[in-house]
Amino acid sequence: MSIMDQFASQTGFPSLTDLETALFACTACPLRDKAIGPTSYNGDPRSPLMLVGEGPGGVEDEYGVPLVGPSGQLLDKALARVGISRDRVYTSNVVKCRPAGNRTPTVEEGEFCAARWLDAEIALVQPKIIIALGSVALKYLYHAKARITADRGKWFRTRHDIAAIATYHPAYLLRLTGEQERKAKWEVVHDFEAAINELKTLAPNWNLKTDPPPDLLTLYADRREARKQSAKTGG
Ligand code: SF4
Repeated sequence: MSIMDQFASQTGFPSLTDLETALFACTACPLRDKAIGPTSYNGDPRSPLMLVGEGPGGVEDEYGVPLVGPSGQLLDKALARVGISRDRVYTSNVVKCRPAGNRTPTVEEGEFCAARWLDAEIALVQPKIIIALGSVALKYLYHAKARITADRGKWFRTRHDIAAIATYHPAYLLRLTGEQERKAKWEVVHDFEAAINELKTLAPNWNLKTDPPPDLLTLYADRREARKQSAKTGG
């Protein structure tokens, strides 16, 4: 049995819908206390390309989906440069509940949450390529001693035996200025191009772009409203 099949057989979830229902009820760690609720995924579960970020911020917590706030908008711009729209990839996070104050989740928080949820998502989606966005995703998917500054742009196999490449998280790019910002943004575009080139071999028939791309905030407006009501009633 392949490593991927072993992961798949261990998930216990027949479908992503079942996984999402269980995820939204998760209270397994203290991060849940300060968040509106766990955030799920967005995009197309049939996609051969999965993006994995670190953890949700305030806008993501409101909408219940990853990478739709300022970081997500910068990510969308970088992806658009290389001909990718977010509805044609699958996006998720290592950690599902927003750490208070929008801090970056710790490696330990990542290990705890991803072993329950992200592993199961990966087993169900079975992407051909994963792009790890930032240090927390790189450390979880690759190994704890990996460093984003040293390892970005290099191919590795994830613990699920999937081809992966790491690049900077958009939240990091938002903190940069001047030449540092310009250089890092080009490196991200370069890493996305490397992933696209691999996909040409691994999934030649998958169309990575919808034109015009759908607005994610509009797509998830109903979920946002439901979470708002649920927060009000303490549900
Ligand atoms: S962070 Fe993950 S493990 Fe912790 S409560 Fe949220 S979904 Fe559950």
